Amino acid sequence: MSRVYNFSAGPAVLPEEVLKEAADEMLDYNGTGMSVMEMSHRSKAFETIIKEAEADLRELMNIPDNYKVLFLQGGASQQFAMIPMNLMKNKVADYIVTGQWAKKAYQEACLYGRANKIASSEDKTFSYIPDCSDLPVSEDADYVYICENNTIYGTKFKTLPNTKGKTLVADVSSCFLSEPVDVTKYGVIYGGVQKNIGPAGVVIVIIREDLITDDVLPGTPTMLKYKTHADNGSLYNTPPAYGIYICGKVFKWIKKMGGLQKMKEINEKKAKILYDFLDESKLFKGTVRKEDRSLMNVPFVTGSEELDAKFVKEAKEAGFENLKGHRTVGGMRASIYNAMPIEGVQALVEFMKKFEEANA
Ligand SMILES: *Cc1c(COP(=O)(O)O)cnc(C)c1O
Repeated sequence: MSRVYNFSAGPAVLPEEVLKEAADEMLDYNGTGMSVMEMSHRSKAFETIIKEAEADLRELMNIPDNYKVLFLQGGASQQFAMIPMNLMKNKVADYIVTGQWAKKAYQEACLYGRANKIASSEDKTFSYIPDCSDLPVSEDADYVYICENNTIYGTKFKTLPNTKGKTLVADVSSCFLSEPVDVTKYGVIYGGVQKNIGPAGVVIVIIREDLITDDVLPGTPTMLKYKTHADNGSLYNTPPAYGIYICGKVFKWIKKMGGLQKMKEINEKKAKILYDFLDESKLFKGTVRKEDRSLMNVPFVTGSEELDAKFVKEAKEAGFENLKGHRTVGGMRASIYNAMPIEGVQALVEFMKKFEEANA
């Protein structure tokens, strides 16, 4: 068996320990004589799995009791519709557009009401986070929406926008559990788990209870109402059971690592190794305004498309996978999520140094 260093933006690297444990339990989970894939989602064994997963997540993120934790399907993209369907009581919402995912969410919301783009960084290919300290937040906005970490462009909100009292909704798909958060600042925090937590197929929604109502847009399908899932403990229908089980294992792994404060320290250390190198390199350079740099997704370029392609090819041959940038930006991107070991980042930087010397 040989494992590569996988810098994919998602689905992405998972802790080896978790994968090994899952492998050990594949044929016989905890004496049940079956795998988690094969068991009823109403069984005692699965009830324990989902309850523990929720409890561990609540502990890790310090989630207050007046927030529900939902394990849903449909990916982060389905939330682009669920959020307006459930929260647009006045049919007005404000969007801060800092990348493709925020833009897609904004476009989706336009289908359901008046979505206002109150700030954007599209003028400079989303390479920065706009100043959000005094935005023209709409008087009657039902919420203000952000994508907190922009997976494709490698930017992150270091301070949350001033929503002027309006409910903040955040897509945290690519920074989920990468550092501590103050859940009370948000109405909804959600993310697809395939970036930093588990296998594709699960989306976690953390939502303040007062936002869960029957007062949704007319025609909202039962399955797309938060209330349906909240009332049934995420077991209204068959949940993505195996995915939830793996997420639960990752929560326990993070707890064992020392929790979110510790994850933040490790992530800062890892990102610094890469950013410091990019800042001193004569060949490679980062594409993002320094103060807005993500700890998770690090895009960079050489300035030559030919050299970029050569780098991606040679890196792959050397065991560094998935370094090609998103198709809309080109260049390279190293995603260094929680499960990427520091050795992986060190080895990548060593490889980049050698490449730079060879191509000077
Ligand atoms: C990947 C990603 C999405 C889309 O996720 P799906 O689960 O494929 O729908 C949305 N938002 C962000 C920030 C992402 O990184």
